[in-house]
Amino acid sequence: MSRYQNAGEAMTLAADSVGPTVCIGEILTEIVATTIGSGFGEPIPLMGPYPSGAPAIFIDQCARFGGSAAMIGTVGNDDFGRMNIDRLRRDNVDVSGIGVDAELPTGTAFVRYRPDGDRDFVFNMWTSAAGRLTWTDAVDAIVSRAGHLHVMGTLLSNATVWPIIECAAEIISDRGGSISLDPNMRKELQADQATSARVATMIAMSDLLLPSGDEMFVAAGMSPDEGEEAAIQHLFRLGVSEIAIKRGWHGSSCHEANGTLTRVPAFRVKETDPTGAGDCFGGAYVAARRLGMSPRQCLTYANAAGARNVTFRGPMEGIGTRHELDKFIQETELSL
Ligand code: ATP
Ligand code: MG
Repeated sequence: MSRYQNAGEAMTLAADSVGPTVCIGEILTEIVATTIGSGFGEPIPLMGPYPSGAPAIFIDQCARFGGSAAMIGTVGNDDFGRMNIDRLRRDNVDVSGIGVDAELPTGTAFVRYRPDGDRDFVFNMWTSAAGRLTWTDAVDAIVSRAGHLHVMGTLLSNATVWPIIECAAEIISDRGGSISLDPNMRKELQADQATSARVATMIAMSDLLLPSGDEMFVAAGMSPDEGEEAAIQHLFRLGVSEIAIKRGWHGSSCHEANGTLTRVPAFRVKETDPTGAGDCFGGAYVAARRLGMSPRQCLTYANAAGARNVTFRGPMEGIGTRHELDKFIQETELSL
């Protein structure tokens, strides 16, 4: 029987009523080049500042969809920090767990798209206020009433953030909350023993994985040659009960440990700025699943959330409410 129940029905994740979905990590300000090209070696037109940071994008989509949501992170005492907090608050994210560092500025990311679709970045992330994350009374208060934790795999190699994630995961799991992991970690990280151990710890604690591309193989510690199905079965044996795979413009699929497979095609859109698609997918999926929707409904909303977001410049500008996503789904052709 599932660990999670809602009105007598078995669920993969803890119901929304158990407490907010919490995401921990970097809150950034993004500045985007408006011309395609390589790097920042000369003066070019830029647009921004935009609110950003993968965990912030995820939690904003979760809240805008109608899920209860809370963010844990640190910004600087500056306009960039205030802009981020204001946006998250406007979208119904509980911002009481966001600390304001008195000394360091809010983290920044300058992004430029190359002709081949690759991105060049100039980051100031862990040497900014984002790197000053600590366990405060405010963090403790949120974690103690949370119903779900979403973990960004990129943070498992971060010695400052990992202990906070690990502690939050234990508390939330002990109080009957669920856990999801976006294993968006690079292959190279597997070489690092401490990080591999953290990945194993997190996978064993996770109910839901949200991989894209080869990430599932990295998470399973397998080679893509062994095939997707073998990796999925291995992850189920490790205790995961559901895997929602992001497949870009091929859409997405949900694999449940009971053998049920659901595939949903992508929407056909003109991509303006691909940043944030995966995080919007995850935010909508987790919120919808916790609200009791079926995998097919969740994948449809998640595909719509990712697709709608890439039609806007700025990583959080295209995040839709449930109503906006319903409208988008009605009006947008599928990419079959
Ligand atoms: P990111 O690129 O942010 O790291 P990701 O690789 O984790 O994201 P994607 O598969 O690129 O995730 O995007 C998530 C979902 O958003 C896809 O499954 C798809 O439904 C939708 N999506 C993303 N890009 C497009 C696109 N160009 N056209 C249609 N749908 C898209
Ligand atoms: Mg992508």
